[in-house]
Amino acid sequence: MEFGFELAVCGWAERHWPPTDTRAGPVVVARQLGTRHRRWDTVVVECDPAGLAERARFGADPLDSDLLGVVRHAPAEWAWYRAALPEPEYPWRYVRAAVNRAAERGLVERRTRGGRVELRRRWPYPDWVERVVAIENKPDLDASAARDLARQLRQDIALALADEVWVGTRPDQETAALLTDGPVEAGILTVDPTDRGSSAATVVWQPRSLPAAETGTRILDRPGDDASAWRFEYADPGWKADKRLEIAERAYGRGWRSYIDSMRQDCRGFELQPETAVARPFCAAKGRHQTSRECSGDCPEFEPEPPAWRQRGWPIEGGPGSAVRELLDDQRARHRPDPPD
Ligand code: SF4
Repeated sequence: MEFGFELAVCGWAERHWPPTDTRAGPVVVARQLGTRHRRWDTVVVECDPAGLAERARFGADPLDSDLLGVVRHAPAEWAWYRAALPEPEYPWRYVRAAVNRAAERGLVERRTRGGRVELRRRWPYPDWVERVVAIENKPDLDASAARDLARQLRQDIALALADEVWVGTRPDQETAALLTDGPVEAGILTVDPTDRGSSAATVVWQPRSLPAAETGTRILDRPGDDASAWRFEYADPGWKADKRLEIAERAYGRGWRSYIDSMRQDCRGFELQPETAVARPFCAAKGRHQTSRECSGDCPEFEPEPPAWRQRGWPIEGGPGSAVRELLDDQRARHRPDPPD
């Protein structure tokens, strides 16, 4: 239930974000992203239109933290990499390896002069991320789920890594417990998972903007019944800014359709239903939508695509499994603008 609902929320957000005002800028939507300590169900990155187009120059794949360190600081003119890039917290040889990797991907130019590695940027890395929004999906919201959720939301709000935090649930769920016990900063949104493609979402509670550019508090431990002390640490604005950009980059590269990577799309029973931009995986063998967990190498009903399907190149090349992957890749690419001329 939660997996299917999550895909419905992602599909809705990609078409209709934001739920409350008339902002019409592009968004990048992804699922299951965050930090080592916390993973959000749905991430919506609100983008500057020109910046997003500039970002496309750097290719469809995400830039990890090492590559970001290179492209963000690469100089306009040739310079020794140690003079141009900020002093790292680890040995310089790792930076040199990142420069080599960036050059291999065509992100920067690299040359060797007098035994020194020099680099020069190809384009300035754009300021393309405006806001990062986190949505926690809870299609079944009973009182106990609301209590657990309220605790998680308080942690998100204290850290303020996202600019806004929402809870997404179904329209028929009782949101009173969350309204009573949940933090006022978190918004509540209902999304009808059956109404794909339409703007079938309702705001139950409007969120507050979080101070994403300020120091945040990471709650490590909360007092239990033994009245032990709170444990927490501070997250400085620099760390938060880097993390937000890394999350946005991963969202840009993966999108929300990357569930296909962990499922057996090469199984005879694997389908997409309906075959629309917000299609969900469907298992013909089980006769229902399957979760990504059950659609794995352990599935007792897994049956490989018959070789004949692949030999005939049906319907494009490489059998239906490859066709499904291409369809999803195309859908993701449609939501990424081309780079400017
Ligand atoms: S039979 Fe199993 S592996 Fe095949 S599509 Fe269904 S859930 Fe996935």
